Amino acid sequence: MPTEFRTLAELCEKLEGTSKRLLMRDLVADFLKKVQADEVEPATSMILGRAFPKWDQRTLEVSWATLRGVIKRLANVDWKEFREAFSHTGDVGAATKIILEKGGKIRKQVTLFEKALTILEVRRRLAVIAETTGSGSRERKERLLETLLGVATSLEAKYLVKILIGEMRTGFFEGMMELAVSEAFQIPLDVVQRASMLAGDVSEVAAIAKVQGKEGVLSIRFQLFRPIRPMMAQMAADVDEALRGHGGESAFEDKLDGARIQIHKSGDKVKVYSRRLTDVTESLPEVVQLVRDQIGAREAILEGEVIAVGKDGSPMLFQHLMRRFRRVHNIEEMTKQIPIQLYLFDLLYLDEASLITDPYVERRRKLKAISGDISLTKQVITNDRAEAERFLREAMSRGHEGLMAKKLDSRYTPGVRGKRWFKIKRTLEPLDLVVVAAEWGYGRRHGWLSDYYLAARDSESGELLMVGKTFKGLTDTEIIGMTKRLKESAVKEEHGRVVVVPKIVVEVAYNEIQKSPKYKCGMALRFARITRIRDDKSPAEADTIQKVKEIYEQQFEKKARYP
Ligand code: AMP
Repeated sequence: MPTEFRTLAELCEKLEGTSKRLLMRDLVADFLKKVQADEVEPATSMILGRAFPKWDQRTLEVSWATLRGVIKRLANVDWKEFREAFSHTGDVGAATKIILEKGGKIRKQVTLFEKALTILEVRRRLAVIAETTGSGSRERKERLLETLLGVATSLEAKYLVKILIGEMRTGFFEGMMELAVSEAFQIPLDVVQRASMLAGDVSEVAAIAKVQGKEGVLSIRFQLFRPIRPMMAQMAADVDEALRGHGGESAFEDKLDGARIQIHKSGDKVKVYSRRLTDVTESLPEVVQLVRDQIGAREAILEGEVIAVGKDGSPMLFQHLMRRFRRVHNIEEMTKQIPIQLYLFDLLYLDEASLITDPYVERRRKLKAISGDISLTKQVITNDRAEAERFLREAMSRGHEGLMAKKLDSRYTPGVRGKRWFKIKRTLEPLDLVVVAAEWGYGRRHGWLSDYYLAARDSESGELLMVGKTFKGLTDTEIIGMTKRLKESAVKEEHGRVVVVPKIVVEVAYNEIQKSPKYKCGMALRFARITRIRDDKSPAEADTIQKVKEIYEQQFEKKARYP
């Protein structure tokens, strides 16, 4: 018997209502045991807030504006009610449920004569939405959404909306799903985790576990043309921390400020995936050609970074590179306008053998042996702090972001951010900025003003101009303190944003200043985070727009020195 979607929504509701990890695991394990084999993959994906498995290239492409329009029509209440419900719950799905129950045509229960939505039916409809593209697709998607939400109960709608926006907020994450799969099918956790890493997604492992048990899960291997989650690095303050973390010796590599790509090759077939595992092959024809021409292996999975280079060969800022990844019609023209350069840094698979359990130095040696004329990231292996520091200074003067430090004997751990790789970044001079407004947080930060608008003073006009926004850096206690202070100096509240009398100065770290049409001053901080509250400074003493501009221009000078 096909399982109704209602059962999944009820399960999620129970998950949302508890923070007991063991209970959550058992609830999901129980559910996985009961559903049909063909429902396991869609159900596990949906419980994790995904319409499709992670490696799947389909995306729903439903904007909030579209979804909002549909909810509005179905609920048929003043939108103010939604805002109110949202400010109570801090959750779009929960707010949807509330307003649908208030005014909507929506049903709280399915009557005997109506056909209930099943998990498979929901998946089928999501697939149709994802496959609706081209002109007029927005209207068609709207109609599809309206019929989907229109046949749902209010509880089902709550979770459908969460899946549509890709955020479940039940506190049940991928790692817990691995626990649940292990529990449901009595397979050791490490076997499930390893398979999930290789398959690039736990939902597929769950499906195999249900039908084939431990043997099936053990036989899961890498598959070419199914991207693997990238290994990630932890931030280290300096080379010393990296050396200590690696037992005294590290391989330092240039950290290029570009876009990470994963390249899969089998004979002449080459596909390129972005860091988020999206197929970007069409945007990067020159990478495909290079790999076909240069890689001396029949089958390979390679990792590297592409950077955009100017006409003189010097690296351009990240934002230029991003234009190469947007969907464009005239790719040939783009390849001329924004030439790119590829640097390889890892090899995960070579001629039918997975290399992820091989030590880093071994993978790098094999990479070097097959990479032909393609550059590898510049590397120095050392146990000498002074030498590492020299290499860092050189990397920065060549226009790079800093260094990566990799543990020599480390294996590749897909999807894991750990100490085997450290990133050591050049930090730009921090800025002291004024908080001019704040937004209410949601989820755990519900009820707190936790997202801050940061401004610098224009020394010519005296005006405070926004240069960025951040919710990062402060502790919970600091956020609670900020909330109190900001509420006291609030002048108005509009669209969930509280505008305040500028009083508080914060020190802000960031990675780059970008050109941006978003703000009046034309610049925006990238990856801004608050490092300190500067109660010792008044807004009059905060940094100026002129200083921000100076730092912005220095970045170019640095980049221009790149060989
Ligand atoms: P993170 O993704 O936050 O762990 O930061 C590391 C990122 O730096 C990677 O995702 C790559 O995009 C980028 N990167 C630049 N150079 C290298 C390198 N030599 N090795 C690994 N990653 C690199």
